[in-house]
Amino acid sequence: DDVRVSVLGLGAMGSVLAGALVKAGYATTVWNRSPGRAEELVARGAEAAATAGEAVRAGQLVITCLLDHASVREVLDPLSGELAGRTLINVTTTSPAQSRETAAWAARAGAAYLDGGIMAVPHMIGQPGASILYSGSAEVFDEYRPLLDLWGDSTYFGEDAGLASLYDLALLAGMYVMFAGFMHGAAMVAPAGVTAREFAAMAAPWLTAMTGGFHGFAEVIDGGDYTVEGQQSLRFSDLGDILAASSDQGVSTEVVAMVQRLIQRQIDAGHGEEGFARIIESIRRPA
Ligand code: NDP
Repeated sequence: DDVRVSVLGLGAMGSVLAGALVKAGYATTVWNRSPGRAEELVARGAEAAATAGEAVRAGQLVITCLLDHASVREVLDPLSGELAGRTLINVTTTSPAQSRETAAWAARAGAAYLDGGIMAVPHMIGQPGASILYSGSAEVFDEYRPLLDLWGDSTYFGEDAGLASLYDLALLAGMYVMFAGFMHGAAMVAPAGVTAREFAAMAAPWLTAMTGGFHGFAEVIDGGDYTVEGQQSLRFSDLGDILAASSDQGVSTEVVAMVQRLIQRQIDAGHGEEGFARIIESIRRPA
């Protein structure tokens, strides 16, 4: 491909993204605020720009991988004139509202915009398992798909630029709560002399198998009928035993109590005989 690409931000992630482009033969210009981070890429064939403006002018496609939304604003705000007629792909992690703000800014600047959310750590880039979520311009996603696919599996969600980060944060929410669940179990068994390593050996296959339940929950949720046969009822899902055992072990009950509260709100509202998936209604309607 003869498109010239510029990568702004050569931190842990940006340098790996740029490296993948250089390796694939893209003419790549790189820029970083602090000096010294471009050298390895330059040795491999990239060109270093002295300023962000120089980098933007060098590339038809401009990729930003900076720390956060504020740093994107700081770098790009003075360059709106330069960005006119170019394409901007911003893979910096931002909130959905911030992604929409950057999309609106890019539209005013006359630049086509695609927002990205990276679901991978740097060493996974270009390897199986790396996933990057995109939203914003469908034209940009389609045109640069071969380039984006160098980094990982590319998934496009729609024209609303905030969708990729919304998805990104929703997936991270699931991850953190699951991690907290693992930590809770490890803390419960620790006073019995079980190491975290021993617990992990049991928990990893168990939780992996349990993710198979997502599809069944999803069918019930999307169907909107929590009385469908074959579900575990909310009343049956009482977590009292887990709370009592946690207290007996002398550990905090916070993690499990949070789930118990979601269950209890539905039981209190008269839905105790309905399926466990109904706790999503507790989440959809804050107490
Ligand atoms: P680093 O901390 O390694 O790098 C941050 C980069 O942002 C550096 O290039 C830094 O430049 C630059 N920067 C920070 N503030 C400014 C500013 N005000 N003006 C100009 N440049 C600035 O972060 P990562 O590379 O790890 O992360 C980059 C983005 O990728 C983040 O949004 C992160 O959330 C996301 N991401 C990272 C993952 C990871 O595992 N690393 C995973 C998924 C997403 P300087 O060298 O001058 O400080």
